[in-house]
Amino acid sequence: MYCTVVTSSRFKGIGNGLTYELAEGSLQAGSPVRVPLRNRLTEGIVVEILEKRASDEFDLKQVKEILGKEPLLTEAHLKTARWISEYYICTLRQALGLWLPAPRWTQLLAESVITYRITEEGKQALADERIKGKKQKMILQALLDHDGIAKKELYQMCGNISDPLRLLREKKFVLEEKRVEESSAASVPEIRAHPQLTEPQQAVYEQMKGDLRPSLLFGVTGSGKTELYAKLIVDAMQEGKQAILLVPEILLTEHSIQRFEKLLPRESIAVIHSRLTAGERRAQWKKIRKGEIALVIGSRSALFSPLPRLGIVIIDEEHEWTYKNEQTPRYHARETAEELCRNAVAKLVMGTATPSLEAWARAKQGRYQLVTLPERYQRQPLPSVGIIDLGSAQFGSLYPFSLPLLTAIGERLERKEQAVLFLNRRGVASALLCRECRRRVISPDSQLPFSVHHDRTGRPFLVDHTTGVTANVPSHCPHCRSPRLMEIGAGTQKVEQILKKQFHSARLIRMDSDTIRDPSEMRIQLEKMQKREADILLGTQSVVKGLDLPHVTLAAVLLADIGLSLPHFRAGERIFQLLTQLTGRSGRARPGEVIIQTFRPDAPEVIFASRHQTEQYLESELQLRIHAGYPPATQMVRLLFRGEKAEANARRSQRSLLELVTKEGNDIRVHCAPAFFGAGRQWHVLLRGSAPRTLLAKIDLDQCIVDIDPMETM
Ligand code: ADP
Ligand code: ZN
Repeated sequence: MYCTVVTSSRFKGIGNGLTYELAEGSLQAGSPVRVPLRNRLTEGIVVEILEKRASDEFDLKQVKEILGKEPLLTEAHLKTARWISEYYICTLRQALGLWLPAPRWTQLLAESVITYRITEEGKQALADERIKGKKQKMILQALLDHDGIAKKELYQMCGNISDPLRLLREKKFVLEEKRVEESSAASVPEIRAHPQLTEPQQAVYEQMKGDLRPSLLFGVTGSGKTELYAKLIVDAMQEGKQAILLVPEILLTEHSIQRFEKLLPRESIAVIHSRLTAGERRAQWKKIRKGEIALVIGSRSALFSPLPRLGIVIIDEEHEWTYKNEQTPRYHARETAEELCRNAVAKLVMGTATPSLEAWARAKQGRYQLVTLPERYQRQPLPSVGIIDLGSAQFGSLYPFSLPLLTAIGERLERKEQAVLFLNRRGVASALLCRECRRRVISPDSQLPFSVHHDRTGRPFLVDHTTGVTANVPSHCPHCRSPRLMEIGAGTQKVEQILKKQFHSARLIRMDSDTIRDPSEMRIQLEKMQKREADILLGTQSVVKGLDLPHVTLAAVLLADIGLSLPHFRAGERIFQLLTQLTGRSGRARPGEVIIQTFRPDAPEVIFASRHQTEQYLESELQLRIHAGYPPATQMVRLLFRGEKAEANARRSQRSLLELVTKEGNDIRVHCAPAFFGAGRQWHVLLRGSAPRTLLAKIDLDQCIVDIDPMETM
C-alpha cells in the first residue's frame, strides 16, 4: 500500500504531499505519521491512501511510524481542504493549515494515561489477608473500588506509593496499563431551555428543515433569526451532532455566548477567535476533536474546527466582509462552508437582514433556498428614518452633529431612553469635500480622493495614498472653484468631546478597538447599557452593529458616506448594509427613530434603506451589476504584485493576459492599477468575465498572489 503525506516541512515544491510506502497495518486518511524527508524524520498527515503507486521510477521511502490510531481530521475535512487548494489556488499544506494548529502536530494527539487494575491473584491475596504492608493493602483496596484508575488519582488517594506499587506489580497483584483517551461517543449535552418559536418563525423553521440546500434566511433586524439558530442548534444536539456558529466580529461573540449559555452548559460551548494563545488553541482543538464540544462559536476561522460529527453550520450576518480571509489561503467562509457542509452532509444556514448580492443571486437561481421573515418579533414596527443633508446643514463648531440630531439625543436623555451613535471606522483618514458640487478633491495621479492629514503643528495637507504624493490644501474647489471646502470625517475623540460639552450629565460609553480590547470588556459595557447605567453608546460600526439593546430608541450614523466616492463597485452595497444595520439597532422593544447624516441624500442606497426596501435595493443593484459586468454577474480574480518590481510585473502579466484574451476571443476584461491601500508599492491585475479562472493555468503566477473572488478591488 501507498499513501500521500503532507509534511509539516516548508520545503518548496512538496506542499501537495509526497508518496510513501506503507509496510503493513491499517491506516486511515487524516492520520498523523512520521516519515523520512531529506535525511531526517518529519511529521506529516496522510491525505490519501493509494492502492497503487503513480509510477515506479523512484524507490519510495517508507512511513516510519504511525503516530496515532485515530485520524486528526475526518474525510469531510480532507475533501474540503482539497477543494480549497484547488479553488483558491494554494498548496494542500496551506489549506490543511487552516484546520491544524502550528506543528508539532503530535501535540494534538490524544494523550495516553497510565492506569492500574487489580488482578485475580491480587483480589485473592487481599481476601486471604496475605498482604502485610499497610500501603499495599490500601492500594489494593482502592483498586478494588476503582478498577482501572489513573495513576494521578491513585496517588491522590494513597499518597506517595511508588515503592509499594512496584512490589505489587512484581507479585503480579497489580497490572499497569496505558490507555489512550478515546473520543467520546455521541453525548447529548443537557438542553437547558427550548426555544419557543412564533408562528412565522415556526413556518420558516419547517421550510429549512425540509430542504437539503443551503438556506438563506432573509429576515429583517429583530425578526428573531437568533431564535431560529437556537432551535436548529438544539435539534442538532438532540441528534448527537455538533454545530458551528460563525459571527462576523470577534467582539460580537460575547453577545452570542450570553444567548447560548441559556441554552447549553458553558462547558459544551467553545469560543474560537484569533486572540487565543497557541496553547489555548491546542487545548480547545483537542476538546473539539474528542467530541466534548457541542457548539463552536467564533469568527471565520472557527469554521475549521475539527468537529467529528458536524450537523449544522450557521453564518450570522452572511453579508459581512470579514468572512473573506485576506491572507493565503484567501478563502471566503460562505463558499467554504457550502463545500464543508456538502462533504459532511450537514445543513448550512446563512442569516442576514441584507443579503449579499452573491447570496441573493444564488437564491434566485435556486442554488440556495430562500426563506424570509419580513416582520419583527411581535410585529414591532421598524423605526422611522430621517435623512439629514450634511451639505446644507449648519454646524458652527459642532460638526459632525446637526441640530436635529442634537435635539433627538436631548429628547432621549429627557425620556430616560438610550441612543446609539455610529461613527466611521477609526483611523480612516478624512477627505476634503466641496460643499457646493459635493465632490471630493481628487489626486491627479491616481484619480482617487486625497486624504487629509495634519502635521505636528496642526497644519493640514493632502496625501495620495496610492502614490505617496503630497499636496497643499487648495483654497478653491478644483472642479467648481467654490471656496466652501471642508474636511470630513471627525474622529471618535472629537465626537466624544462635543457630546460631553453638550450633554454634561449624560453617561457616555465609547466603544472602538481602542477602548475595547477583548470580549469580556465588551460584555461589561453591554451590561451597562442593558441595566441602563449608560445613556449614549458611541462606537465604530464594526463594534456597534448587531447589538440587541431594548431601551435604545435612537440610532444615528454621523456620516454615511464612507467609500461612496471611491471607485469600488461594492461601495453602494456596503452603505446600504450599514444603514440597514443601523435601523436594526433602534426600537427593538418600543417605537424607535433613526437618523442618517449624509452628504449624498439622494443616493439610491440611502433612499432604499430609509424606506426599508431591501428587496428593491437588491434587485436594482443586481441589474446594475449585470449591466456593468461585475460580480455576481461575472467572476473576478485579482493578481496582487508586491515589492520592487510590482508595477513591471503587473504590466507584464496584463500584457500576456490580454494576448490570451485576444487569441481565445473570450469576454474577460483585464485591468491593471496600483492597489489603493498599497502606498504605491502594490499593484494588481483584475480579471472579470464569465470564467477568468481558466486563464490562470496558462500564465506564470510565480510573482503574484492569487485572490479568487476578491473583496478588495481598488
Ligand atoms: P435578529 O437576530 O433577527 O435581529 P433577534 O433574534 O435578536 O433578531 O430577536 C429580536 C428580539 O426579539 C430579541 O430580543 C429576542 O429575544 C426576541 N425574540 C425573537 N423571537 C422570539 C421568540 N420566539 N420568543 C421570545 N423572544 C423572541
Ligand atoms: Zn466644488
